[in-house]
Amino acid sequence: MSQTPDFDAFYAEWDEDQIMPNVCIGSTPEGVPCGGEMEYADELGQPWCAACQYRGEFINWGLIHDWPALESGNFAIAEGQTYWMLTASLGTAERVLALMAAMENYERRTA
Ligand SMILES: [Zn+2]
Repeated sequence: MSQTPDFDAFYAEWDEDQIMPNVCIGSTPEGVPCGGEMEYADELGQPWCAACQYRGEFINWGLIHDWPALESGNFAIAEGQTYWMLTASLGTAERVLALMAAMENYERRTA
């Protein structure tokens, strides 16, 4: 069983008035906050380190495509920005990369 992310703590950090942190908001493969040095900002201005840049690209794709529901093997994401934000930041690498693979199918389907 993978550990359940602490969504309340996550949201507490996303207070509207709060300035975006300048450390990576991704997660390591062990599921702990990455906190790496910011190297990349996604289109929403969220910080990612070099190793987590794909997570920011995941967000950019979601933004362009209006946060659709996706399915890939054992992984699925529901429609909506909240789910995309949570997956980008707290999802395992396996989960994020599987969903990124599903993007291609999605584009083919909706082209
Ligand atoms: Zn990172």
